[in-house]
Amino acid sequence: MTEYKLIINNQLISKEETFDVFNPSDDSLVGRAPKANESDLDNAIEAAKNAYKKWSKTSHQERQQAINAIADLLEEHSDELAKLLTLEQGKPLKGIGSEFELQACIIWARACATLELPVEILEETETTRIEQHRKPLGVVASITPWNWPLAIGSWQILPAILAGNTVVMKPSMFTPLSTLRMAEIICQALPAGVLNVVASSDSGVGKRMTSHPDIAKITFTGSTDTGRKIVSSSANTLKRLTLELGGNDAGIVLPDVSPEKIAEGLFWSAFINNGQTCAALKRLYVHESIYDEVCDQLVAYAKTVPVGDGMDESNLLGPVQNTEQFEKICELVESAKQAGGRILCGGQAPSGKGYFYPITLVADIDDSCPLVNQEQFGPVLPIIKYTDIEDALSAANANENGLGGSIWSADIERASTLAGRLECGTAWVNKHAEIRPDIPFGGAKTSGCGVSFGKLGLEEFTQLQVISV
Ligand code: NAD
Repeated sequence: MTEYKLIINNQLISKEETFDVFNPSDDSLVGRAPKANESDLDNAIEAAKNAYKKWSKTSHQERQQAINAIADLLEEHSDELAKLLTLEQGKPLKGIGSEFELQACIIWARACATLELPVEILEETETTRIEQHRKPLGVVASITPWNWPLAIGSWQILPAILAGNTVVMKPSMFTPLSTLRMAEIICQALPAGVLNVVASSDSGVGKRMTSHPDIAKITFTGSTDTGRKIVSSSANTLKRLTLELGGNDAGIVLPDVSPEKIAEGLFWSAFINNGQTCAALKRLYVHESIYDEVCDQLVAYAKTVPVGDGMDESNLLGPVQNTEQFEKICELVESAKQAGGRILCGGQAPSGKGYFYPITLVADIDDSCPLVNQEQFGPVLPIIKYTDIEDALSAANANENGLGGSIWSADIERASTLAGRLECGTAWVNKHAEIRPDIPFGGAKTSGCGVSFGKLGLEEFTQLQVISV
C-alpha cells in the first residue's frame, strides 16, 4: 500500500501515527494518511515563513511561469489523480466527476497564470503622484472540504502563490490522500517551503492553524459552522479571511417554461456531485400551473441516471461521501416524510455496503420543513409549489444562506430583473451552479465573505498599499 507523507519544505515526512481513509463505495481501505500534530504544523509554518522571504521578492512573471508549470504537471498526472480522487471521495471518474474535477484544476491554473497585479496610478499631477500597490501578505493557511477537494485546493493555493505568498494547507480528513499527492506534484515546480501540507484528524491542528500568529490570511471553504469558529479563533491576530461557506440555493421556475426542456438542466443543477456542491440548487420553487409536469419530468430524467461505484465508468453519480453526511440525509428525508412530503422517487437507503442514497425528489413540502430550510448537501431535492412570484421570492430570501439562486423562464428580461432580487452572491438565469475562473464567486449573508476567482479573487491574497508622493 502506498505510504502517504506530509509535505514540509519540499521534504516528504513519514509519520508513524496515521489515520485510515475509506472508499465510500464499499468501505474498503484506500490508504493511511499521515497524522500531523501541532509540532508538524509549527514546522510547516516555519518553512513557509522562511520561504516567503525569497518567494515574495520574485517577479510576478516568474511566479506566472511557475503556475503554468504547475498546470502542465497537473495535466501530466491527471489520470492518476482522478483515480485516487474517485477512490477516496466516491465521485465517478466520468461525467461531472473526477476527470472533470482535474480539468477544473488545470483550466483554473492556466487562467490564474494570466492574472496581473499592476501598480495603479490613482493621481498624477505636477505636485502629486499617488500609486496603489498590491503586496503579498505572508503565510496563507488553506483549509479545504471533502466535496471538490482538488479543485477547491488548487483554487485556494494557486492565486495565493501567484500573489507572492507561501502556503500551509490542511485538507479534510475524509479526502487527504489526493491532496497530498497533488501537492507533491505541484511542489516539483516550486522552491522549498512555498507549499506545505499537513493532513490530520486531530482537531487541535485546525484550531492552532487559525489562531497562529505567523499566519497572515486564511482561505477557507467549508460549512458555515466551521466558518464561525474560524472567525472567532482568528480574531486576536486579525487575520485576513476569505470564507466560502454553506449554501441553500433556491431555484424559481416561472409558469412560462417548457418542463420537458428544462428538466435535464434543473436535475444537474441540483444533483451535481450528488448534491454535495456548495452552490447546487437545494430548494426548487415551481409555479402551481406546471408543478405536476415539472415533477413528472424530473422523475423521468432521474430514472435515466445510473448510480453506483465511481470506478465503474457507466455510473454518473456515486455514493454520499461519509457516514455523518449520509446520516444527515436520512434524517432530513425522514423529517420530510413526517411533515407529509410526497416521495416521488428514492427516499430509502438500500441495504449493503457503501453510503449509497438513491436520487430522491420530494413534493408537497413547505418551507417549515428542515429538508427545505437546512442545507441537505446530498442527493435529495425538495420541490415546493407556489402561486404568487412575490411569495416565492420572499421564501427564497428567507434563509440565512445567500450563496446562489436562479430563475427559470422563457422571458429573459423579466427573469434577469427577478434574479436581481435574489439575496445571493450569484444569481443565474436558466442555469445554476455555473462557475468560471474569470468571474468572481462568493457568498452573501452567512454563505461567506470575500470572493474567489479572477482579478478580485487574486486581490484577496494581497495587502493594498498606497504610496502618496
Ligand atoms: P467542514 O466545515 O466540516 O470542514 C471543512 C474543513 O474545515 C475541513 O478540512 C475540516 O477538517 C476543517 N475544520 C473543521 N473544524 C475546524 C476548525 N475548528 N478549525 C479549522 N479547520 C477546521 O465542511 P465540509 O463538511 O468538509 O464541507 C461541506 C460544507 O462546505 C458545506 O456546507 C458546503 O456548502 C460548504 N462548501 C462551500 C463552498 C463555497 O464555495 N461556498 C464550496 C464547497 C463547500
